[in-house]
Amino acid sequence: MRLTVIGTGYVGLVSGVCFSELGNDVVCVDKVSAKIDMLNKGRIPIFEPGLEELVQKNKNEGRLRFTTDLTGAVHDSDIIFIAVGTPSLPSGEANLSFIEQAAEEIGRSMNGFKVVVTKSTVPVGTNEKIRNIIQQHTTCLFEVASVPEFLREGTAVQDTLYPDRIIIGTSNDTARKWLTKLHTPLTDNIIVTDIRSAEMIKYASNAFLATKISFINEIANICEKVGADVTQVAFGMGSDKRIGPSFLNAGIGYGGSCFPKDTQALIQIAGQMDYDFKLLKSVVEVNRDQRFNMLRKLEAILGDLRSKTIAIWGLAFKPETDDVRDAPAFEIISALLRKGAVVRAYDPIAADNFKNHFQGAVEYCVSAQKAAWHADALCILTEWKEFCDTSPSVIQSWLKQPNLIDGRNIYSEEDLAGTELNYYSIGRPNMN
Ligand code: NAD
Repeated sequence: MRLTVIGTGYVGLVSGVCFSELGNDVVCVDKVSAKIDMLNKGRIPIFEPGLEELVQKNKNEGRLRFTTDLTGAVHDSDIIFIAVGTPSLPSGEANLSFIEQAAEEIGRSMNGFKVVVTKSTVPVGTNEKIRNIIQQHTTCLFEVASVPEFLREGTAVQDTLYPDRIIIGTSNDTARKWLTKLHTPLTDNIIVTDIRSAEMIKYASNAFLATKISFINEIANICEKVGADVTQVAFGMGSDKRIGPSFLNAGIGYGGSCFPKDTQALIQIAGQMDYDFKLLKSVVEVNRDQRFNMLRKLEAILGDLRSKTIAIWGLAFKPETDDVRDAPAFEIISALLRKGAVVRAYDPIAADNFKNHFQGAVEYCVSAQKAAWHADALCILTEWKEFCDTSPSVIQSWLKQPNLIDGRNIYSEEDLAGTELNYYSIGRPNMN
């Protein structure tokens, strides 16, 4: 099939590349010419395991192109995917300006029947808006569909090639047939719904996962008070098939480009219909507060943080990505700087992105050791494998004061045996 994907970010690039891997002819479009130039020179603007190889292969085999020419791409395609960003407005509502602009450009570029598919996460009713905008700019026939995206950064290629399910929201037979044919090589589990339900499935899924995280974080906080171990509690809970083990890792809360904005957007969507989504509001509040547990722990150990050197390991919101959007590191480091601490930070991949978005006086280090060297405490914010593979006794030998705050519960009691670290984790009894 001949496809255009508009928006060559984490979702659009990975989706476009994976569709080309299935044998389709794909044109990826972005309005940022620097991104397209990079891709045309064989360089990948984001870090995503396995992506570079697939880009090279499919480009070389002539199935994958990159361009800023949206009109030309639309002319040559039967299915147009919209995968542009839908960031939060200050109110928490989704900003639909990129979607509206893309829809207008599609409308102006139409030269025959097309199916226009929204992959971006959009509030219920947006696909109808997209239909109206396109209609205002063309007399060609077309259909719209919602195929929300569920990939996770860090495992995006695998998630796209082996999805748990594909949701196709459409009421049109041609759109259903084309999109079913396109996705059938990926999974047998294709669920066809009406458009509004498809739009809602995406928000409901992310809100539910965020709820699981805030729930286990609250259980962790109670575990700390009653002397239970949240990792054992989560294992016991997660062994119940009705609950399941995933998203039950206690820590410093969720971040990233999806959960924070999608929970806020769903609260707004509900509010606009005069529905007060009390549960989700609490999920957001618990998450915000959880980030500061680490600071409370630091202050309990070190007292005044002024002039204390605090090492930070991990700036990305999770491992295996360079994405720092809404990463807990922003708020934690800002609070440390406000309290007068000296902050030294290291991340294997995401430091440059973080630097571009953060104004504060952080010393960025080229290695985990350089960041931890002679620090008064080390805080682990992201569970990169490199950190999990560093033994606590080595960490102790690098620190000035043996204080380790593990915001991701990466070390076990065995790992700590023989060290004299003051080790604090989330929801577990003191282990050392
Ligand atoms: P992103 O910011 O990484 O990429 C969006 C791209 O769209 C940018 O490169 C931007 O330049 C481009 N763009 C914007 N307007 C354009 C236009 N008119 N023409 C051409 N290009 C245009 O965003 P993302 O992380 O890929 O997210 C895209 C959407 O997918 C969002 O709605 C997001 O919520 C959703 N989503 C993201 C993830 C994720 O893990 N990142 C997962 C599932 C769903």
